[in-house]
Amino acid sequence: MIVDLPGNNRPLRILVTGGAGFIGSHLCRRLVAQGHDVLCADNLFTGNKRNILDLLDCRNFEFMRHDVTFPLYVEVDRIYNLACPASPVHYQFDPVQTTKTSVHGAINMLGLAKRTKARILQASTSEVYGDPQMHPQREDYWGNANPIGPRSCYDEGKRCAETLFFDYHRQHKLDIRVIRIFNTYGPGMSPNDGRVISNFIVQALRNEDITIFGRGSQTRSFLYVDDLIDGILSLMEQASDFAGPVNIGNPEEISIRELAETILAMIPESRSKLIFKPLPTDDPARRCPDITLARASLNWEPHTSFAEGLTRTIGHFRQTLPMECANR
Ligand code: NAD
Ligand code: UDP
Ligand code: UDP
Repeated sequence: MIVDLPGNNRPLRILVTGGAGFIGSHLCRRLVAQGHDVLCADNLFTGNKRNILDLLDCRNFEFMRHDVTFPLYVEVDRIYNLACPASPVHYQFDPVQTTKTSVHGAINMLGLAKRTKARILQASTSEVYGDPQMHPQREDYWGNANPIGPRSCYDEGKRCAETLFFDYHRQHKLDIRVIRIFNTYGPGMSPNDGRVISNFIVQALRNEDITIFGRGSQTRSFLYVDDLIDGILSLMEQASDFAGPVNIGNPEEISIRELAETILAMIPESRSKLIFKPLPTDDPARRCPDITLARASLNWEPHTSFAEGLTRTIGHFRQTLPMECANR
Protein backbone atom coordinates (compact mmCIF):
# COMPACT_ATOMS: atom_id res chain seq x y z
CA MET A 1 0.00 0.00 0.00
CA ILE A 2 1.39 3.41 -0.96
CA VAL A 3 0.79 5.90 1.85
CA ASP A 4 2.86 8.98 1.11
CA LEU A 5 6.14 9.70 -0.54
CA PRO A 6 8.40 12.36 0.90
CA GLY A 7 10.12 14.95 -1.25
CA ASN A 8 9.13 15.09 -4.90
CA ASN A 9 6.80 12.10 -4.69
CA ARG A 10 9.13 9.86 -6.68
CA PRO A 11 9.74 6.33 -5.39
CA LEU A 12 13.40 6.07 -4.39
CA ARG A 13 15.74 3.08 -4.61
CA ILE A 14 16.70 2.60 -0.99
CA LEU A 15 19.29 0.31 0.58
CA VAL A 16 18.85 -0.57 4.25
CA THR A 17 21.83 -2.43 5.71
CA GLY A 18 20.95 -4.38 8.83
CA GLY A 19 17.36 -4.31 7.55
CA ALA A 20 16.46 -7.68 9.08
CA GLY A 21 17.31 -6.48 12.60
CA PHE A 22 15.08 -4.86 15.19
CA ILE A 23 15.22 -1.22 14.02
CA GLY A 24 16.00 -2.11 10.39
CA SER A 25 12.83 -4.17 9.98
CA HIS A 26 10.68 -1.31 11.30
CA LEU A 27 12.43 1.08 8.91
CA CYS A 28 12.01 -1.25 5.91
CA ARG A 29 8.31 -1.68 6.73
CA ARG A 30 7.77 2.11 6.83
CA LEU A 31 9.71 2.70 3.56
CA VAL A 32 7.87 -0.11 1.75
CA ALA A 33 4.54 1.35 2.92
CA GLN A 34 5.63 4.71 1.48
CA GLY A 35 6.03 3.02 -1.91
CA HIS A 36 9.81 3.06 -2.19
CA ASP A 37 11.87 0.31 -3.77
CA VAL A 38 13.65 -1.20 -0.76
CA LEU A 39 16.71 -3.47 -0.79
CA CYS A 40 17.50 -5.00 2.59
CA ALA A 41 21.08 -6.28 2.97
CA ASP A 42 21.82 -8.27 6.10
CA ASN A 43 24.13 -11.13 7.08
CA LEU A 44 21.54 -12.34 9.65
CA PHE A 45 24.07 -12.32 12.52
CA THR A 46 21.53 -10.88 14.98
CA GLY A 47 18.74 -10.26 12.48
CA ASN A 48 16.22 -12.81 11.35
CA LYS A 49 14.08 -13.36 8.26
CA ARG A 50 11.11 -13.71 10.62
CA ASN A 51 11.39 -9.94 11.25
CA ILE A 52 10.70 -9.21 7.56
CA LEU A 53 8.47 -12.17 6.72
CA ASP A 54 5.51 -9.90 5.98
CA LEU A 55 7.63 -7.90 3.50
CA LEU A 56 9.10 -10.76 1.48
CA ASP A 57 6.06 -10.95 -0.83
CA CYS A 58 5.93 -7.19 -1.49
CA ARG A 59 6.87 -6.26 -5.04
CA ASN A 60 8.88 -3.26 -3.81
CA PHE A 61 10.96 -5.20 -1.25
CA GLU A 62 13.99 -7.42 -1.79
CA PHE A 63 16.19 -9.25 0.72
CA MET A 64 19.86 -9.95 0.07
CA ARG A 65 22.09 -11.95 2.42
CA HIS A 66 25.22 -9.81 2.47
CA ASP A 67 27.99 -8.87 4.90
CA VAL A 68 28.80 -5.14 4.70
CA THR A 69 32.49 -5.79 5.38
CA PHE A 70 32.56 -6.85 1.70
CA PRO A 71 31.99 -4.44 -1.21
CA LEU A 72 28.49 -4.11 -2.62
CA TYR A 73 27.69 -2.90 -6.13
CA VAL A 74 24.05 -1.85 -6.54
CA GLU A 75 22.31 1.27 -7.87
CA VAL A 76 20.58 3.32 -5.17
CA ASP A 77 19.40 6.84 -4.24
CA ARG A 78 19.50 6.46 -0.44
CA ILE A 79 21.50 4.29 1.97
CA TYR A 80 20.53 3.73 5.60
CA ASN A 81 23.58 2.08 7.19
CA LEU A 82 22.25 0.19 10.22
CA ALA A 83 24.28 -3.03 9.97
CA CYS A 84 25.95 -3.71 13.33
CA PRO A 85 25.00 -5.81 16.35
CA ALA A 86 23.73 -3.41 19.02
CA SER A 87 23.34 -5.52 22.15
CA PRO A 88 26.49 -5.71 24.33
CA VAL A 89 26.18 -9.51 24.53
CA HIS A 90 26.18 -9.82 20.74
CA TYR A 91 28.75 -7.14 19.85
CA GLN A 92 31.20 -8.61 22.38
CA PHE A 93 30.75 -12.16 21.00
CA ASP A 94 33.15 -11.48 18.06
CA PRO A 95 34.61 -8.05 18.80
CA VAL A 96 36.96 -8.02 15.80
CA GLN A 97 34.03 -8.61 13.45
CA THR A 98 32.11 -5.81 15.26
CA THR A 99 34.87 -3.29 14.54
CA LYS A 100 35.16 -4.54 10.96
CA THR A 101 31.40 -4.16 10.52
CA SER A 102 31.47 -0.53 11.68
CA VAL A 103 34.71 0.50 9.95
CA HIS A 104 34.96 -1.63 6.77
CA GLY A 105 31.17 -1.51 6.51
CA ALA A 106 31.22 2.30 6.62
CA ILE A 107 34.02 2.48 4.01
CA ASN A 108 32.14 0.18 1.64
CA MET A 109 28.82 1.97 2.05
CA LEU A 110 30.49 5.39 1.67
CA GLY A 111 32.28 4.10 -1.45
CA LEU A 112 28.91 2.97 -2.78
CA ALA A 113 27.36 6.36 -1.95
CA LYS A 114 30.27 8.13 -3.66
CA ARG A 115 29.87 6.13 -6.88
CA THR A 116 26.06 6.33 -7.01
CA LYS A 117 25.81 9.88 -5.55
CA ALA A 118 23.32 8.50 -3.03
CA ARG A 119 22.51 10.28 0.23
CA ILE A 120 23.73 8.14 3.13
CA LEU A 121 22.66 7.98 6.78
CA GLN A 122 24.71 6.39 9.55
CA ALA A 123 23.02 4.83 12.59
CA SER A 124 25.45 6.04 15.22
CA THR A 125 24.90 5.74 18.92
CA SER A 126 24.90 7.40 22.33
CA GLU A 127 27.82 5.02 23.03
CA VAL A 128 30.09 7.51 21.25
CA TYR A 129 29.82 9.49 24.52
CA GLY A 130 31.22 6.48 26.46
CA ASP A 131 30.67 6.85 30.22
CA PRO A 132 29.70 10.51 29.91
CA GLN A 133 30.84 13.25 32.26
CA MET A 134 28.45 15.79 30.71
CA HIS A 135 24.83 15.30 31.61
CA PRO A 136 22.54 15.28 29.69
CA GLN A 137 24.66 14.64 26.61
CA ARG A 138 24.80 17.30 23.91
CA GLU A 139 26.18 16.68 20.42
CA ASP A 140 29.18 18.97 20.98
CA TYR A 141 30.41 16.79 23.89
CA TRP A 142 33.37 14.66 22.71
CA GLY A 143 32.73 11.85 25.15
CA ASN A 144 34.59 9.69 27.61
CA ALA A 145 35.13 6.34 25.88
CA ASN A 146 37.65 3.67 26.87
CA PRO A 147 39.64 2.72 23.74
CA ILE A 148 40.76 -0.71 25.02
CA GLY A 149 37.85 -2.17 27.02
CA PRO A 150 35.27 -4.84 26.18
CA ARG A 151 32.80 -2.21 24.88
CA SER A 152 35.43 -0.48 22.71
CA CYS A 153 34.82 -2.62 19.61
CA TYR A 154 31.37 -1.04 19.45
CA ASP A 155 32.08 2.44 20.83
CA GLU A 156 35.31 3.08 18.91
CA GLY A 157 33.99 1.36 15.78
CA LYS A 158 31.02 3.74 15.78
CA ARG A 159 33.26 6.74 16.55
CA CYS A 160 35.54 5.82 13.62
CA ALA A 161 32.49 5.38 11.36
CA GLU A 162 31.42 8.95 12.26
CA THR A 163 34.95 10.15 11.40
CA LEU A 164 34.76 8.40 8.02
CA PHE A 165 31.34 9.92 7.30
CA PHE A 166 32.55 13.45 7.99
CA ASP A 167 35.81 12.91 6.04
CA TYR A 168 33.91 11.63 2.98
CA HIS A 169 31.64 14.66 3.39
CA ARG A 170 34.56 17.12 3.52
CA GLN A 171 36.83 15.34 1.02
CA HIS A 172 34.34 13.94 -1.51
CA LYS A 173 31.33 16.23 -0.88
CA LEU A 174 29.08 13.31 0.02
CA ASP A 175 25.57 14.10 1.26
CA ILE A 176 25.71 12.47 4.71
CA ARG A 177 23.38 12.26 7.73
CA VAL A 178 24.54 11.03 11.14
CA ILE A 179 22.08 10.17 13.87
CA ARG A 180 23.06 9.26 17.44
CA ILE A 181 20.46 6.81 18.66
CA PHE A 182 19.80 6.40 22.40
CA ASN A 183 18.44 3.14 23.87
CA THR A 184 15.47 2.13 21.73
CA TYR A 185 12.90 -0.59 22.43
CA GLY A 186 9.65 -1.93 21.06
CA PRO A 187 7.88 -4.83 19.38
CA GLY A 188 10.17 -6.87 17.16
CA MET A 189 13.03 -7.19 19.65
CA SER A 190 14.33 -10.72 19.83
CA PRO A 191 13.75 -12.55 23.14
CA ASN A 192 17.48 -13.44 23.00
CA ASP A 193 18.55 -9.88 22.27
CA GLY A 194 20.18 -9.48 25.68
CA ARG A 195 19.29 -5.82 26.16
CA VAL A 196 17.60 -4.73 29.31
CA ILE A 197 13.97 -4.14 28.32
CA SER A 198 13.58 -7.38 26.37
CA ASN A 199 15.47 -9.30 29.09
CA PHE A 200 13.25 -7.99 31.90
CA ILE A 201 9.98 -8.57 30.03
CA VAL A 202 10.94 -12.08 28.89
CA GLN A 203 12.16 -12.99 32.39
CA ALA A 204 8.94 -11.68 33.97
CA LEU A 205 6.73 -13.56 31.48
CA ARG A 206 8.69 -16.78 32.07
CA ASN A 207 8.68 -16.37 35.89
CA GLU A 208 12.50 -16.31 35.84
CA ASP A 209 14.64 -14.13 38.10
CA ILE A 210 14.98 -10.53 36.87
CA THR A 211 18.71 -9.90 36.51
CA ILE A 212 19.71 -6.42 37.66
CA PHE A 213 23.38 -5.71 36.95
CA GLY A 214 25.10 -3.81 39.75
CA ARG A 215 22.78 -2.08 42.21
CA GLY A 216 20.51 -0.91 39.43
CA SER A 217 21.25 2.74 40.17
CA GLN A 218 22.65 3.31 36.66
CA THR A 219 20.23 5.18 34.39
CA ARG A 220 19.13 5.00 30.78
CA SER A 221 16.54 6.88 28.69
CA PHE A 222 14.33 4.69 26.52
CA LEU A 223 12.87 5.64 23.16
CA TYR A 224 9.96 3.84 21.51
CA VAL A 225 10.90 2.49 18.07
CA ASP A 226 8.15 4.32 16.09
CA ASP A 227 9.43 7.66 17.40
CA LEU A 228 12.96 6.68 16.33
CA ILE A 229 11.82 5.84 12.79
CA ASP A 230 10.14 9.27 12.57
CA GLY A 231 13.46 10.86 13.55
CA ILE A 232 15.52 8.78 11.11
CA LEU A 233 13.19 9.56 8.17
CA SER A 234 13.01 13.20 9.08
CA LEU A 235 16.81 13.58 9.11
CA MET A 236 17.23 11.67 5.83
CA GLU A 237 14.56 13.66 3.98
CA GLN A 238 15.47 17.12 5.35
CA ALA A 239 15.58 19.45 2.38
CA SER A 240 18.52 21.32 3.97
CA ASP A 241 21.93 19.70 3.94
CA PHE A 242 21.94 19.38 7.75
CA ALA A 243 24.27 16.43 8.36
CA GLY A 244 24.13 16.15 12.15
CA PRO A 245 25.31 14.48 14.24
CA VAL A 246 21.98 14.71 16.02
CA ASN A 247 20.77 12.94 19.16
CA ILE A 248 17.53 11.02 18.80
CA GLY A 249 16.36 9.76 22.17
CA ASN A 250 13.89 10.25 24.96
CA PRO A 251 15.03 12.74 27.61
CA GLU A 252 13.11 10.91 30.36
CA GLU A 253 15.70 9.15 32.53
CA ILE A 254 14.99 6.05 34.62
CA SER A 255 17.18 3.85 36.83
CA ILE A 256 17.50 0.18 35.93
CA ARG A 257 16.06 -0.85 39.29
CA GLU A 258 13.02 1.38 38.73
CA LEU A 259 12.67 -0.12 35.25
CA ALA A 260 12.60 -3.66 36.69
CA GLU A 261 9.94 -2.65 39.22
CA THR A 262 7.86 -0.90 36.53
CA ILE A 263 7.91 -3.92 34.21
CA LEU A 264 7.10 -6.31 37.05
CA ALA A 265 4.11 -4.15 38.06
CA MET A 266 2.86 -4.30 34.46
CA ILE A 267 2.96 -8.11 34.44
CA PRO A 268 1.03 -8.72 37.70
CA GLU A 269 0.77 -12.50 37.26
CA SER A 270 4.59 -12.84 37.25
CA ARG A 271 6.24 -14.72 40.13
CA SER A 272 9.71 -13.36 39.21
CA LYS A 273 12.05 -11.95 41.89
CA LEU A 274 14.69 -9.24 41.47
CA ILE A 275 18.26 -10.55 41.74
CA PHE A 276 21.54 -8.65 41.54
CA LYS A 277 24.48 -9.65 39.33
CA PRO A 278 27.91 -8.03 38.87
CA LEU A 279 27.97 -4.80 36.86
CA PRO A 280 29.67 -5.35 33.46
CA THR A 281 32.99 -3.53 32.87
CA ASP A 282 32.65 0.08 31.68
CA ASP A 283 28.85 0.04 31.99
CA PRO A 284 27.93 3.76 31.70
CA ALA A 285 26.53 5.17 34.96
CA ARG A 286 24.13 7.68 33.41
CA ARG A 287 22.75 8.30 29.96
CA CYS A 288 20.24 10.89 28.84
CA PRO A 289 20.04 12.86 25.60
CA ASP A 290 19.79 16.60 25.22
CA ILE A 291 17.43 16.83 22.22
CA THR A 292 17.45 20.60 21.76
CA LEU A 293 19.12 20.18 18.35
CA ALA A 294 16.60 17.57 17.12
CA ARG A 295 13.74 19.81 18.23
CA ALA A 296 15.20 22.85 16.46
CA SER A 297 16.55 21.27 13.28
CA LEU A 298 14.08 18.42 12.66
CA ASN A 299 11.07 19.64 14.62
CA TRP A 300 11.29 16.19 16.22
CA GLU A 301 10.53 14.95 19.70
CA PRO A 302 9.22 11.65 21.04
CA HIS A 303 5.44 11.22 21.32
CA THR A 304 4.97 7.74 22.78
CA SER A 305 4.78 7.65 26.57
CA PHE A 306 6.87 5.04 28.35
CA ALA A 307 3.72 3.37 29.72
CA GLU A 308 2.23 3.09 26.22
CA GLY A 309 5.47 1.84 24.63
CA LEU A 310 5.99 -0.77 27.36
CA THR A 311 2.37 -1.95 27.08
CA ARG A 312 2.83 -2.53 23.34
CA THR A 313 6.19 -4.26 23.83
CA ILE A 314 4.86 -6.54 26.57
CA GLY A 315 1.89 -7.32 24.27
CA HIS A 316 4.34 -8.28 21.51
CA PHE A 317 6.22 -10.69 23.77
CA ARG A 318 2.98 -12.16 25.15
CA GLN A 319 2.04 -13.04 21.57
CA THR A 320 5.40 -14.20 20.24
CA LEU A 321 7.02 -16.00 23.18
CA PRO A 322 4.81 -19.11 22.99
CA MET A 323 5.65 -19.36 19.24
CA GLU A 324 9.40 -18.90 19.90
CA CYS A 325 9.25 -21.80 22.38
CA ALA A 326 7.42 -23.99 19.83
CA ASN A 327 10.06 -23.16 17.16
CA ARG A 328 13.01 -24.13 19.35
P1 NAD B 1 20.03 -5.55 15.75
O1 NAD B 1 21.15 -6.37 16.26
O2 NAD B 1 18.63 -6.04 15.96
O3 NAD B 1 20.19 -5.27 14.20
C1 NAD B 1 21.44 -5.19 13.56
C2 NAD B 1 21.32 -5.86 12.20
O4 NAD B 1 22.58 -5.76 11.52
C3 NAD B 1 21.00 -7.36 12.32
O5 NAD B 1 19.97 -7.69 11.42
C4 NAD B 1 22.31 -8.04 11.95
O6 NAD B 1 22.14 -9.33 11.41
C5 NAD B 1 22.89 -7.04 10.96
N1 NAD B 1 24.36 -7.13 10.82
C6 NAD B 1 25.28 -7.20 11.79
N2 NAD B 1 26.52 -7.26 11.27
C7 NAD B 1 26.35 -7.20 9.91
C8 NAD B 1 27.25 -7.23 8.79
N3 NAD B 1 28.58 -7.32 8.96
N4 NAD B 1 26.73 -7.18 7.55
C9 NAD B 1 25.38 -7.12 7.34
N5 NAD B 1 24.49 -7.10 8.36
C10 NAD B 1 24.98 -7.13 9.61
O7 NAD B 1 20.20 -4.09 16.38
P2 NAD B 1 19.27 -2.80 16.29
O8 NAD B 1 18.86 -2.45 17.66
O9 NAD B 1 18.25 -2.97 15.25
O10 NAD B 1 20.34 -1.71 15.82
C11 NAD B 1 20.40 -1.24 14.49
C12 NAD B 1 21.44 -0.13 14.38
O11 NAD B 1 21.09 0.95 15.25
C13 NAD B 1 22.84 -0.58 14.77
O12 NAD B 1 23.77 0.03 13.89
C14 NAD B 1 23.00 -0.04 16.16
O13 NAD B 1 24.35 0.22 16.45
C15 NAD B 1 22.18 1.23 16.10
N6 NAD B 1 21.72 1.62 17.44
C16 NAD B 1 20.71 0.93 18.05
C17 NAD B 1 20.33 1.30 19.33
C18 NAD B 1 19.19 0.61 20.05
O14 NAD B 1 18.91 0.95 21.19
N7 NAD B 1 18.49 -0.33 19.47
C19 NAD B 1 20.97 2.35 20.00
C20 NAD B 1 22.02 2.99 19.35
C21 NAD B 1 22.38 2.64 18.06
N1 UDP C 1 32.66 0.17 -2.86
C1 UDP C 1 31.51 -0.59 -2.86
N2 UDP C 1 30.57 -0.34 -3.81
C2 UDP C 1 30.70 0.64 -4.74
C3 UDP C 1 31.87 1.43 -4.73
C4 UDP C 1 32.84 1.17 -3.78
O1 UDP C 1 31.34 -1.49 -2.03
O2 UDP C 1 29.78 0.79 -5.54
C5 UDP C 1 33.67 -0.09 -1.83
C6 UDP C 1 34.97 -0.60 -2.37
O3 UDP C 1 35.30 -1.76 -1.64
C7 UDP C 1 35.96 0.48 -2.05
C8 UDP C 1 35.31 1.24 -0.91
O4 UDP C 1 33.92 1.13 -1.18
O5 UDP C 1 37.20 -0.03 -1.62
C9 UDP C 1 35.69 2.68 -0.82
O6 UDP C 1 35.45 3.29 -2.05
P1 UDP C 1 36.22 4.62 -2.49
O7 UDP C 1 35.76 4.97 -3.87
O8 UDP C 1 36.07 5.65 -1.45
O9 UDP C 1 37.73 4.23 -2.43
P2 UDP C 1 38.66 3.28 -3.33
O10 UDP C 1 37.80 2.60 -4.37
O11 UDP C 1 39.64 4.20 -3.90
O12 UDP C 1 39.23 2.31 -2.34
N1 UDP D 1 21.13 -4.55 32.36
C1 UDP D 1 20.65 -5.22 33.49
N2 UDP D 1 20.16 -6.49 33.33
C2 UDP D 1 20.09 -7.12 32.12
C3 UDP D 1 20.55 -6.42 30.98
C4 UDP D 1 21.08 -5.14 31.14
O1 UDP D 1 20.69 -4.69 34.60
O2 UDP D 1 19.61 -8.26 32.06
C5 UDP D 1 21.65 -3.18 32.54
C6 UDP D 1 23.03 -2.95 31.92
O3 UDP D 1 24.04 -3.26 32.87
C7 UDP D 1 22.96 -1.47 31.61
C8 UDP D 1 21.50 -1.20 31.28
O4 UDP D 1 20.77 -2.30 31.84
O5 UDP D 1 23.31 -0.70 32.73
C9 UDP D 1 21.22 -1.12 29.80
O6 UDP D 1 21.79 -2.27 29.19
P1 UDP D 1 21.58 -2.65 27.67
O7 UDP D 1 22.37 -3.89 27.43
O8 UDP D 1 20.14 -2.67 27.35
O9 UDP D 1 22.18 -1.43 26.84
P2 UDP D 1 23.43 -0.43 27.04
O10 UDP D 1 22.80 0.88 27.27
O11 UDP D 1 24.28 -0.85 28.20
O12 UDP D 1 24.16 -0.55 25.75
